[in-house]
Amino acid sequence: MSNPLTQYYRVPKLYVKLPSQGRFYPKGMVETTGNGEVPVYPMSALDQITIRTPDALLNGDAMIRVVSHCVPDIKNPKDLVEPDINTLFVAIRVATHGEQMEIATACPSCNHDNNYQVNLSGLLETQELFDQDNHVEFDGTLLIHLRPYNFEQRNLTLLNEITESQAIGQIQNNLNLDDTTKLTSLGKHMTKMAERTFEIVAKSITQITIIKTGVVVEDRAFIEEWLKHIPKSQADVLTQKIAQLNKVGIDPNHTFVCESCNHEWQQPIDFDPTSFFG
Ligand SMILES: [Zn+2]
Repeated sequence: MSNPLTQYYRVPKLYVKLPSQGRFYPKGMVETTGNGEVPVYPMSALDQITIRTPDALLNGDAMIRVVSHCVPDIKNPKDLVEPDINTLFVAIRVATHGEQMEIATACPSCNHDNNYQVNLSGLLETQELFDQDNHVEFDGTLLIHLRPYNFEQRNLTLLNEITESQAIGQIQNNLNLDDTTKLTSLGKHMTKMAERTFEIVAKSITQITIIKTGVVVEDRAFIEEWLKHIPKSQADVLTQKIAQLNKVGIDPNHTFVCESCNHEWQQPIDFDPTSFFG
């Protein structure tokens, strides 16, 4: 017998459009309503415990599990792209805690401690949907097809930053090292960090079309080998384009006005799960 309590489970609190509009996903990964929205449910008590476990946060599995519970119409949340991830984080927070979020921040001009209520539904209403080109062309020879970061790349970036900044901190604070040794070690870590970043970026290249012949290359090993041989100027173009694709969707910048001195400034709202869902 099926559980008669099923109909008394959580109900969806809001419906939201994904900025990607499904553009980077295989057929069937996202089920949307007629107007392209997905229903979003509040976090369960178990979800809220899951995201407070520090280790689970680091490897990102916790957030993937939470998305699969709160947005069940997304079949494979680990393949979600960055703009959709940000939108869903905001939507899940609204579904769970309501649309107001308190942000405490000091005024950069007079240092006064301000407390603000930010309306998160406003961020969802003004989000930008994907309508830009996701290709880069090199001198009429190659057409590179790109997609924004997915969950895996987002987590690898976070891990890379944490590991390297810890390593750099340890070198800087090591009293047994002379300045020359410190500089050499720091240089090595900066190079390692840049290499890892590039490996992460490479995962955003989905295929390369050779324009003259129409041949399409999708083999990961071929693409990665090609990347190692291109000039820095071309690599920079790819990195910048992918960064731009990652930024589609919600604009995290919010304008704050100081209640003490009326100073006005812009500051991004941090969607990092540790602080955002706390
Ligand atoms: Zn002020």
